[in-house]
Amino acid sequence: MNNNKIQRHNERMKRHKEIVDDKIAKATIEQGVVIVITGNGKGKTTSALGTLLRSLGHGHHCALVQFIKGQWACGETQFFAQTDNLKTFTMDTGFTWNTQDFAQDKLAAQTIWRECLPLFSDPNCRLIVLDEITYMFKYNYLAINELLSALKNRPKQQNIIITGRGAPKELLEFADTVSEIKPLKHAFNQGIKAQEGIEW
Ligand code: ATP
Ligand code: MG
Repeated sequence: MNNNKIQRHNERMKRHKEIVDDKIAKATIEQGVVIVITGNGKGKTTSALGTLLRSLGHGHHCALVQFIKGQWACGETQFFAQTDNLKTFTMDTGFTWNTQDFAQDKLAAQTIWRECLPLFSDPNCRLIVLDEITYMFKYNYLAINELLSALKNRPKQQNIIITGRGAPKELLEFADTVSEIKPLKHAFNQGIKAQEGIEW
């Protein structure tokens, strides 16, 4: 690069730093956040698990609530079984992609929701991951207002991560951070088999 280009680059970087510093100075509110990771691309649950790892790494007490039981024993479930500070809840009866029993699935959804509800009034619980909960609203197993009310009344420093496709509009409005993962390509659609350690 010639000197002119280097000088322009340095000026751009300086302006960029000023903008970022200004934003940092203005972000003064101390409170937990509600994060929604939605969309049709791969990476929602694994993103939530990455943040869970980050929080656990700081010694925080956390919870992982899984609303859809996969066909296989997930690597993360086996790994986290040995983790202190983590409470796990799995919808163990009923809903998988293979069941078609509305009453049974609704009961299973309501049971796990009731089990995890005390977490939303536990100030020691720093992060709750609600994995695949969006489908519970889509299929009318749970009412979105029940979730919103738990979120509104939770301890101030508690963080929440919600994953799943088709997150309801009310939830997107309420959340502090929303990421939509867009599928550009997925190996499965090219006939590549799902594999241990990547898909589960
Ligand atoms: P992951 O758990 O890998 O982060 P996800 O939570 O974003 O995925 P889900 O909708 O929960 O995705 O689906 C779980 C499974 O479906 C994963 O095995 C994932 O690889 C696969 N999957 C996700 N998105 C797609 C897609 N666009 N096409 C095909 N398979 C997908
Ligand atoms: Mg998922």
